[in-house]
Amino acid sequence: MSIPFVLTGITVVTGDAIGTVHENWTVGVNAAGLIDYAGPSAQAEIPPGSLRIDGTGKYLTPGLINAHAHLFADGKPLPRIYTHPRAARSLTWFMHTQAGRMLLRKRAKDNAITQLHTGVTTLRTVGDVAYEVIATRDAIERAEYLGPRILPSGPLMAITGGHGAPQIALICDDPQQARANTRTNIRHGANTIKISATGGVTDATKIGYAGKPEMPEASMRAICEEAHNAGVLVAAHAQSPEGLRAALRAGADTIEHGSSMNDEIVDLFKNNPASLRGTSSLIPTLQVCLPLVKLDPAVTGADDVIRANAELVLTEMLSGIRSAIEHGITIGVGNDSAISYVTHANFWRELDLLQRYAGVDAATLLHAATQVNATILGLDTVTGSIEPGKTADLVMLGANPLESFRHLAAPQMVVVRGERITEPEITRIPAIDAQLDTL
Ligand SMILES: [Zn+2]
Repeated sequence: MSIPFVLTGITVVTGDAIGTVHENWTVGVNAAGLIDYAGPSAQAEIPPGSLRIDGTGKYLTPGLINAHAHLFADGKPLPRIYTHPRAARSLTWFMHTQAGRMLLRKRAKDNAITQLHTGVTTLRTVGDVAYEVIATRDAIERAEYLGPRILPSGPLMAITGGHGAPQIALICDDPQQARANTRTNIRHGANTIKISATGGVTDATKIGYAGKPEMPEASMRAICEEAHNAGVLVAAHAQSPEGLRAALRAGADTIEHGSSMNDEIVDLFKNNPASLRGTSSLIPTLQVCLPLVKLDPAVTGADDVIRANAELVLTEMLSGIRSAIEHGITIGVGNDSAISYVTHANFWRELDLLQRYAGVDAATLLHAATQVNATILGLDTVTGSIEPGKTADLVMLGANPLESFRHLAAPQMVVVRGERITEPEITRIPAIDAQLDTL
């Protein structure tokens, strides 16, 4: 049970598709952590004994939802040595020792809390080392500490030598293995299943490798069938048209990162009988490639292969976003936190970059990061908007985020499930922020 409170005289930035803003509203939160009133202050009946918080001059948005997160690292760029196969093998070995598991649990907790304090009240992981994020989710649900709502994936599904393997993957080299691994993750309590349909930037050893199709459609179909049987959504990392097509045909519910699209791909997004709900969505993640393309290689340490692949992926991703908007494909938001240059304090930057580099308008983006993400993740009756009956997941700001997403960087208060964080403490990495500020 939380302490009931009312926020009075606040400007509510609803997060709807057209950027509706209500001035001088009151929002009431009951002991169950639910919103029980959201409307004009003049008509508000404030229950006696409620804690009153003056919201004059402040702005309130729904809690943000990060649909593509990882929690296993802090976002500091990894030296190239770590991605060398031998280093990767010993790191993977260590992470599965007792000490490694404890370290991962601590990182997952700390990073989830950092995201919460920046206003991310719900996040979905799409590639964990093992089941450390599932344990973190369970600890939060047992109220051991205050954290965001988490939908964890457990390790992702990849082919031998594929994207994310071996560090954060279970190996699926045929449909039978794919089916068994999907069941294993679901039995461990995964809320989502992640597939590596294509290669990625970080593991590319040749120019043009990022986006190369990896997992065959038959294995991906086996994964989707098993997951959907259990009511679990499937996210597919896919960075080329061939990869998108195979993943969508197999039944992927969300395409992560994305690429340019032809008519067949557009149609598959909009009408995908193999998906859980009949349509699929796109979750772009500009933060994962823009810094590698735009920042000085002397600073990032990115070699020619990484830079060329990052550039390829960026061009494809921007094209995919344009097609999605043109054809009315649902777009969510994620930022690939934990990957190099994506710190846990920087979800707001994804919105900022999508606005400036992909030309998406602010209202559409805030909507995507709240209501649309909630719908994509199947949480639309729970969170994503400021309405009576929804969980009180809220962010209070000193300025209107629709004017600049930078205003989201330092919330004045975050509310998750009705619990207030009145002095958010955000762990930042100033050296990285200084570089990202130049983008
Ligand atoms: Zn990712």
